Amino acid sequence: MANQEDNLLKNIISHSKEYGFIFPSSEIYDGLSAVYDYGQNGAELKNNIKEYWWKFMTMMHDNIVGIDSAIFMHPTIWKASGHVDAFNDPMVDNKDSKKRYRADVLAEDAIAKIQDKIDKEVEKAAKRFENFDKAMFLATNGRVVEYQKKIDEANARLKDSMNSSNMEALKQLIIDLEVADPISGTKNWTDVRQFNLMFSTEMGSVAEDTNKIYLRPETAQGIFVNFLNVQKTSRLKIPFGIAQIGKAFRNEIVARQFIFRMREFEQMEMQFFVKPGEEMKWYEFWKEKRMRWHQTLGLGSENYRFHDHLNLAHYANAACDIQFNFPMGFKELEGIHSRTDFDLKSHEKFSGKKLQYFDAEDNQNYIPYVVETSVGLDRMFLSILSKAYTEEKLPARPAGGEDGSDRVVLRIPPALAPHKVAILPLMKKDGLAEKAEAIFNDLKFDFRCFYEDKDNIGKRYRRMDAIGTPYCITIDHQTLQDDTVTIRDRDTMKQERTSISNLKSKIRDSVSIATLLKQI
Ligand code: ATP
Repeated sequence: MANQEDNLLKNIISHSKEYGFIFPSSEIYDGLSAVYDYGQNGAELKNNIKEYWWKFMTMMHDNIVGIDSAIFMHPTIWKASGHVDAFNDPMVDNKDSKKRYRADVLAEDAIAKIQDKIDKEVEKAAKRFENFDKAMFLATNGRVVEYQKKIDEANARLKDSMNSSNMEALKQLIIDLEVADPISGTKNWTDVRQFNLMFSTEMGSVAEDTNKIYLRPETAQGIFVNFLNVQKTSRLKIPFGIAQIGKAFRNEIVARQFIFRMREFEQMEMQFFVKPGEEMKWYEFWKEKRMRWHQTLGLGSENYRFHDHLNLAHYANAACDIQFNFPMGFKELEGIHSRTDFDLKSHEKFSGKKLQYFDAEDNQNYIPYVVETSVGLDRMFLSILSKAYTEEKLPARPAGGEDGSDRVVLRIPPALAPHKVAILPLMKKDGLAEKAEAIFNDLKFDFRCFYEDKDNIGKRYRRMDAIGTPYCITIDHQTLQDDTVTIRDRDTMKQERTSISNLKSKIRDSVSIATLLKQI
């Protein structure tokens, strides 16, 4: 199984490169670790994901507005937010493989393995006994009770060591959990050390004037420091939200797994400002809304799940992840955090400026509480690619007289596909190319279209399948006589003859982001 998953990820990586979705950064200089460039098709898909998020957040909610704050910010912001002192990950090296790992992740993975053992015992027993009572089994089966005790103890020790930054205790936990390096297989670990994830640089052209500044590790702080600017100029009343899409930078310790963990990535974040005491209601509200936004894409509801945080960050009083079933298993796709009034309060303290909201209904000033939703754009991209990527064995003669070769098709949700329609004259001559160009010039105002007149039609269909184009329109000799074309569906490969005048109405709904938004 693990091999199959590895292969899937490898295939996605090479497909992404071959078809212009994602290239390793600086490739001609042998690349730059954990940094990637989006190619011509990747940029389109990424823009469409952004549009789906932005429109959902801002257009669908009359109390949410979007901003675009700068990446560079005053360095004190990162002191106030806690990032200078506490944005650390504990790292540990295996002395034999020389590989570096996040110590907390090693412990979490080991705990998850014990949980797997419990799940297997439950599965076995459920098969063996009729009227199987799971709760009773979990409470009474000796082996399972022992495993659960181990998990609870390990979780408590992990939480304690992380909260108190006790790196020795964390190392001891790794030893006690008998964690072995997956590469060398040994348990020969260095001490665990804290490592700050922020990149820094200097601002100012004269050396003496230089000032250390940071590349933002999250977009959220740009929202917090503009909270009153936006509130006053928009005159929004609590509860209201501010959304933002932008780059963030983290010097990740372990930057493997393609675009899942990058050093330069993009976030789509929304901070929702609420009355103190009402944050839990809104936390639940946004959990549900965000889950629906994901599931509406149609990648399979079973591929999403909530995961509550056991180790809460310094600013949160509740937090969970929406995890997605990536090729490497269930991992965080989005974080939903109840951030209390930590950030605004801290910015008040460090800046000396009031960041309070006047609630006219209650006739009082207060610092709002905040519920945050934060999803990685690149992880969204990977989630879509990993479920869209399909290798298909075709029957000898599939629909529409295409040849029987196997195909790779990206079943990207049509509204997010890089191109919506390919316009393909059967051949260049006899006026077919001119007719096709006229159709292109008409449709291009409504849809991102792709035009191609080289190679045989079967090959062109395969290329469109490989980049996920939902529709191919073929112009043939009959088109010249009766203004009809064939329209081919990417997923079923079925072809249908239709008049040119019907094309827009036929395509529009199924490739429109508005259709998705209406389903949420
Ligand atoms: P992780 O535990 O995986 O490091 P995190 O909890 O630190 O993630 P947050 O700070 O909550 O992540 O960031 C919000 C979102 O930003 C994440 O859910 C993820 O989708 C995305 N994200 C965070 N770090 C990276 C990264 N290095 N590369 C790509 N996306 C990232």
